[in-house]
Amino acid sequence: MIDINNTYSDLPSEFYHRVKPSASINPELISLNTELASFLNIDTKDKKLFTDIFSGKSIKRDSKPLAMVYAGHQFGNFVPRLGDGRAILIGEVKGKNNLLYDVHLKGSGKTMYSRNGDGRCPIGPAIREYLVSEAVNSLKIPTTRSLAIFSTGEKVYRESNLPGAILVRVASSHIRVGTFEYFSYKKDFKNLKILADYSIKRHFPNLIRRKDKYFIFFSEVVIRQLKLVSKWLSFGFIHGVMNTDNTLISGETIDYGPCAFMDHFKKNKVFSSIDYGGRYSFNNQSFICFWNMLCFANAILPLFDNTKSAAKILELELSNFKKKFTDQWTSDMSLKFGSKKNKIFDEDFFKSWTELLESENLDYTNSFLKLEEILLLNKNGNKNIKQTNKIYIFAEKWIKILKANSISLDSALKTMRENNPYYIPRNHIVEKVINEGVEGNFNKLEEVYKIIKDPFKKKKGFRPSEQEPKEDEKVFSTFCGT
Ligand code: AMP
Ligand code: MG
Repeated sequence: MIDINNTYSDLPSEFYHRVKPSASINPELISLNTELASFLNIDTKDKKLFTDIFSGKSIKRDSKPLAMVYAGHQFGNFVPRLGDGRAILIGEVKGKNNLLYDVHLKGSGKTMYSRNGDGRCPIGPAIREYLVSEAVNSLKIPTTRSLAIFSTGEKVYRESNLPGAILVRVASSHIRVGTFEYFSYKKDFKNLKILADYSIKRHFPNLIRRKDKYFIFFSEVVIRQLKLVSKWLSFGFIHGVMNTDNTLISGETIDYGPCAFMDHFKKNKVFSSIDYGGRYSFNNQSFICFWNMLCFANAILPLFDNTKSAAKILELELSNFKKKFTDQWTSDMSLKFGSKKNKIFDEDFFKSWTELLESENLDYTNSFLKLEEILLLNKNGNKNIKQTNKIYIFAEKWIKILKANSISLDSALKTMRENNPYYIPRNHIVEKVINEGVEGNFNKLEEVYKIIKDPFKKKKGFRPSEQEPKEDEKVFSTFCGT
């Protein structure tokens, strides 16, 4: 049994355009996230039925597919209408936690929001999103997830003819800051309120009856966003395209176009081939998160009766952003250094760490594993660790702080093991998987998928140090998944 409903289609017609998926000519299942399917109560035993429904070839009666409309600030410039140009919402399914999840088919054909695009998705960007989103989820970072990839049987033309694919994206909703901006900019305040109430009902149902529900809604969205971006930073993740249409009010990561995990640390690192000014560089992400929340505040202001006093309250909320962000980030980073207490390391401590990584050209992920190694040697009383290597000198300072705060090395090691992955979806590996996928070979996809799905467990034959790219394997730039 596969149960799909569509509560979004009950909203007024200004929220979407009804359209059926059209890209699945001869769909074939490439990869399936069985764990997610089971969480969503989706029966996958009948592969033909599953393929037909989730590739969009056949539409279930209650599904009512549609393309959602939204606006957005892209690289700082406002675009009054964007919308799903290459994705279609086929409806919602209920998870084991009793919450609704949107099912979006990305690459399923043109919609009225496609502008000059073809509404298609080549296999490469589908594989990138499938792998990286699952890795992000496995690192316990909130994210949209990928249920499956299908090939469509069509060719999609980019620089060359490429196999077409559909990525089934699952999200706790696809409501974006840009969805609010769409109605706000049009001065359609009636629908702005309907959107806010729908969002509250779906994401913050305990607020429904509160008089101050829109204020709390705002501050909850801000908290979710800052928690999200803090997590990205702590794992060396660069989203790459933090436009307000890619900012979900659920606080999940969305849009895996030009994203990347850093190998060697560089605080101003940019991967996206279209981010010429470095707006979405690694270090700028917390500021952009703040900027996006400022856009959100502007968009929801018309919800309040007294906009002047509401603006003051929202401003006050935003004036605490920096402090709240720093607290969150400090506590996320502290975990990576083995401490559940978040005040024992100060910002200078973290700064000296990242400066060390940058000046020595060290791998971000593996350097934490190196610290674990040093900690283990220290714990075992090995006196031969008085090395001149800068990372050992740093580690001495760090271990002193742990000891001074009565954190045993055993407990530090345990905390570190839970917060420092052995594996991330490294760019050069993702590229290899994509290159093979374009040739119709998905063995490497399955192999890498298994590894990144369980990133805190060391796998035989996959030494983390060997995962680092060699000089000729380094990837310097990523492309939007169009
Ligand atoms: P993104 O860069 O993925 O955030 O997309 C920005 C906008 O461009 C959204 O409205 C997308 O739906 C639209 N878009 C991106 N790629 C395509 C495509 N191949 N066909 C139609 N619309 C697209
Ligand atoms: Mg997008």
